[in-house]
Amino acid sequence: HSGFVAIVGRPNVGKSTFMNYVIGQKIAIMSNVPQTTRNKIQGIYTTDKEQIIFIDTPGIHKAHNKLGDFMVQSSLSTLNEVDAVMFMISANEERGAGDNFIIEHLKQIKKPVYLVINKIDLINPNKLLEIMDDYKDAVDWKEVVPISAIQGNNVSEFIDTLAAEL
Ligand code: GDP
Ligand code: MG
Repeated sequence: HSGFVAIVGRPNVGKSTFMNYVIGQKIAIMSNVPQTTRNKIQGIYTTDKEQIIFIDTPGIHKAHNKLGDFMVQSSLSTLNEVDAVMFMISANEERGAGDNFIIEHLKQIKKPVYLVINKIDLINPNKLLEIMDDYKDAVDWKEVVPISAIQGNNVSEFIDTLAAEL
């Protein structure tokens, strides 16, 4: 089981925290791989049987100029090159324009897309149900996964699920 997984989501939803937690568990490499326009941070998770290369994909937001648009296109092309995509949202923030912008692009991706609801340590179970309902029809999710990247809740279970699909 091995493959590439892109993580997308608005700033501050916890993408880096997730990556650090996962890589911290089974330490391998955190590296900055130079790309044409920016550095894509990659974290490689390895065990005896599996290897997942996570790619933090920042910059999917409405572009205000040509360079911005170029970077958005670059991030979007990354989504078509990976084996699966994680769309991360923060449980304590309302769905907004930034989320919807990414969602519009995720609809066009022909790869499994996981909705990862992070920061569940900050909310109660009712709120989680509300969030799930709010996002349920946005994309044809492969799975909806509540986690707390900071506490590690449900993270290793999710990695196992992900690895099984790769
Ligand atoms: P990124 O911009 O998506 O990479 O987000 P970061 O990983 O930098 O996290 C943004 C902030 O959210 C930081 O202050 C993190 O400590 C915090 N954070 C990340 N994950 C969690 C979580 O599961 N629970 C809580 N309470 N805070 C979190
Ligand atoms: Mg980050």
